[in-house]
Amino acid sequence: MSAVASVAVVGAGITGLAAAIRLARAGIDVEVFEARPELNPLGSGITLQGNALRAFDTLGVWDDVRAAGFAFEGLTLRAPGPGAPVVAELGDVKTGGPDYPAGMGMYRPDLAKILLAHAEQAGAKIRFGATVSGIRSVGEAVEVLADDAVAGTYDLVIGADGLHSAVRGLIGIDTAPQPTGMGIWRSFVSRPAEVQRSELYYGGPVYIAGYTPTGDDTMYAFLVEKAQDRFGVTDAEAVQIMLHDSWAYEGPRNSIRADLGSADAHVNYTWFTQHIVEAPWNRGRTVIIGDAAHSCPPTIAQGAAQGLEDAVVLTELLIERDAVDQTLWDEFHARRLPRARAVVDASVQLGQWQIDGNRDADAGGLIFGIARQMAQPA
Ligand SMILES: Cc1cc2nc3c(=O)[nH]c(=O)nc-3n(C[C@H](O)[C@H](O)[C@H](O)COP(=O)(O)OP(=O)(O)OC[C@H]3O[C@@H](n4cnc5c(N)ncnc54)[C@H](O)[C@@H]3O)c2cc1C
Repeated sequence: MSAVASVAVVGAGITGLAAAIRLARAGIDVEVFEARPELNPLGSGITLQGNALRAFDTLGVWDDVRAAGFAFEGLTLRAPGPGAPVVAELGDVKTGGPDYPAGMGMYRPDLAKILLAHAEQAGAKIRFGATVSGIRSVGEAVEVLADDAVAGTYDLVIGADGLHSAVRGLIGIDTAPQPTGMGIWRSFVSRPAEVQRSELYYGGPVYIAGYTPTGDDTMYAFLVEKAQDRFGVTDAEAVQIMLHDSWAYEGPRNSIRADLGSADAHVNYTWFTQHIVEAPWNRGRTVIIGDAAHSCPPTIAQGAAQGLEDAVVLTELLIERDAVDQTLWDEFHARRLPRARAVVDASVQLGQWQIDGNRDADAGGLIFGIARQMAQPA
């Protein structure tokens, strides 16, 4: 017995596909509405912390994720200037517990393909090119409109439709993501053999320069700067900016510059945002999770991990309970909201210390404190 027999999931991102996989495996009818015509074929990398890897194991996709990603432990800090001197080699708290690596880098499109394949194998129906435009409560059920036409009626709707969530607005929640003042350039490049884990350079022309390995030959590189209106730039201009703004960072960064300069590089630019929707995240039988409910700068790389935890906790309750009632929602919010808030607050604080140039702040204490909190299952 489960609390629902049919569920509509809005959004085929990491959060939505995670929820779809677990519900469909439990025998629940799942339809996923995705506005894009197909999975985004381009992308950069993502860092998956141990608690994200533990969530993948719960979903039954860990073997495939492990095979496709690059596992690592710890973090190297370097300084700008000749030779890119190593300032510190930091250990890690294993946020997924002892059974998983502390972290893993992965090419985002590879992760998306794995999750989609598992959702389809589990029996979830994926409707690409279907933009959810309306939601109506009909007694104990919810009617979903896609592209302004009735698309189906379900026992529950999960809005996992990201930062600019339509579902959030449709159920009357007006919290919206706010810029934090930082922007990021990201590119997918080749990995010099010496790069074995995430490395960050603090100081110099940008707030943070870094890279994370994603595979035998690949990694993603990024530069975090003051947020500016950079959205109209072409790929060629973006490459020039990435080359120019990273001149002070040597060591493995030299190879990134060579790669960016020679290859047919694609560079992505975006701003960091923050928000958290206060409880409740549901209105009746429609609930928002993942970036629809919370966002934060990736200063501790926990955004996707939090979306995965939302999906794991919600689906556990839907599968194990026999009714969608207030006790289910109370437990969901008690297990998810304080944890997501702690991540958002810490991530924003770390970024703000960078913006303020505050070098006395206890960044390490904050990062390790959150990591220890995440090591406890959600
Ligand atoms: C620069 C940057 C770096 C990051 N780095 C990391 C990191 O290293 N590690 C980490 O854990 N997190 C990181 N994050 C956060 C992470 O990327 C997000 O938390 C995560 O991808 C959110 O997934 P999601 O499925 O909730 O939303 P999304 O990935 O946004 O997916 C939402 C989906 O919903 C679809 N959709 C939207 N509206 C509709 C509609 N009306 N109808 C149908 N479909 C719709 C969209 O097309 C999209 O496919 C980073 C974020 C940023 C901005």
